[in-house]
Amino acid sequence: MSPSPDSARVDLAVIGAGPNGSLLALAAGEAGLRTALIDRLPLATLTDPGFDGRTTAIAYTSQRLFAALGIWDELADQAEPILDIRISDTGHDGRTSPFFLHFDHREAAEAEGDAVPMGWIVENRFLRAALLRRLRTCPAVELVAPDEALDTRRGDDKVEIALKSGRQLAARLVASAEGRFGTLREEAGIGARAWSYGQVAIVLVAHHERPHRGVAQEKFLPGGPFAILPMTDGEAIDGKGGEHRSSIVWTERASIAKRLLELDTPRFNAEFARRFGDFLGHVEPAGPRWSYPLSLVHAERYVDRRMVLVGDAAHGIHPIAGQGYNLGVRDIAALVEVLVDAQRLGLDIGAADTLERFARWRRADNFTMVAATDLLNRLFSNDIAPLRLARDVGLAAVNRVPSLRRFFARHAMGLGGDLPRLIRGERP
Ligand SMILES: Cc1cc2nc3c(=O)[nH]c(=O)nc-3n(C[C@H](O)[C@H](O)[C@H](O)COP(=O)(O)OP(=O)(O)OC[C@H]3O[C@@H](n4cnc5c(N)ncnc54)[C@H](O)[C@@H]3O)c2cc1C
Repeated sequence: MSPSPDSARVDLAVIGAGPNGSLLALAAGEAGLRTALIDRLPLATLTDPGFDGRTTAIAYTSQRLFAALGIWDELADQAEPILDIRISDTGHDGRTSPFFLHFDHREAAEAEGDAVPMGWIVENRFLRAALLRRLRTCPAVELVAPDEALDTRRGDDKVEIALKSGRQLAARLVASAEGRFGTLREEAGIGARAWSYGQVAIVLVAHHERPHRGVAQEKFLPGGPFAILPMTDGEAIDGKGGEHRSSIVWTERASIAKRLLELDTPRFNAEFARRFGDFLGHVEPAGPRWSYPLSLVHAERYVDRRMVLVGDAAHGIHPIAGQGYNLGVRDIAALVEVLVDAQRLGLDIGAADTLERFARWRRADNFTMVAATDLLNRLFSNDIAPLRLARDVGLAAVNRVPSLRRFFARHAMGLGGDLPRLIRGERP
């Protein structure tokens, strides 16, 4: 690849306009870094209702960053607060153990009367659309899509990217936000711990008779966790109230998930209702069923010469705790802060010491979440009697100790460690 005389020069080239890449481009652009955001797909298709059927649990601290960047104004009406989280264990016999763990958002508050939701459930299509709307109004960001990064050359003072369209881009730093199947990590010789969980997440929306009252439920079934996540009510029609809705992430062993997904609607709905239970009255799946094979990938390093990995490209985790994207949000907040600090001092934003500062900052938080979600899934996705006993005792023990409940609740909200300025709700 020879340098092209008309190479567009930016500070940061972000490859991948998924939830992480879009957020990074917006945060960097808002902080004054000239940024190019590249995706092989036309950006408008990423917001199609048929593209991504998932919801995301946006942790309390991620919401603060969204508010600081003006994204929350676009999302607030479509976000349902998570007030409580209830965790329980159910065996092959369908009986739910009497032991459970219940987190109440009021217990996690700094002081009495300061209670805030633990997080919010947002449909991914709305999240993607809100990010795109904000990106389109950010003058420092150029949207380069549909186009594909085919060849990336990283030199001492710049990165050159050859795009499928024939265009050449030059940047001081490239960020791979390519998701867990990206190629830049491997091309840079960065290894990863990676394996398949042999599980598939079936994702759907359920309508139920009674309101969920903001309670997120995680039922541990032998095939894996079955999460019931509170959504906003459906639209009211003809003066009648909208349906009460929850988003479902139903994890099963891959072979069983395949058979379930092939069932006709009445039999699928019956299997679903059996697992959901009757605590919200009559329940029924509504709309399409989606499926996502589950795997883990955790890069050995997050940085290389003039390159950084963010989001699932750095760490794709099991959705058991609904934290994968929240880790990416914290990566982005830390990365933008170190880049802006370097820029303000007149330093090179792609220099090795700048990138190392980011990598050191993010390693422990990411490592802890990767390990915790992996362990939780192994411990709970089975029906082995001694393990069931151990985990039930564990749930009940934590449930009895308010300080432990508070510790875990604040962790789920993202309130731990050295928080970047954006995560504290401030501009970097
Ligand atoms: C069932 C399920 C439920 C989940 N629930 C939650 C939750 O409640 N809370 C939470 O925090 N997280 C959750 N997650 C995790 C979250 O969805 C992911 O962390 C997030 O979607 C990853 O986004 P990303 O932008 O890193 O990658 P992706 O969404 O994979 O985006 C990568 C993008 O890069 C583009 N691309 C790749 N290579 C190139 C190239 N060479 N050139 C151009 N473009 C390229 C692709 O087209 C794509 O658009 C869940 C995950 C699953 C599977």
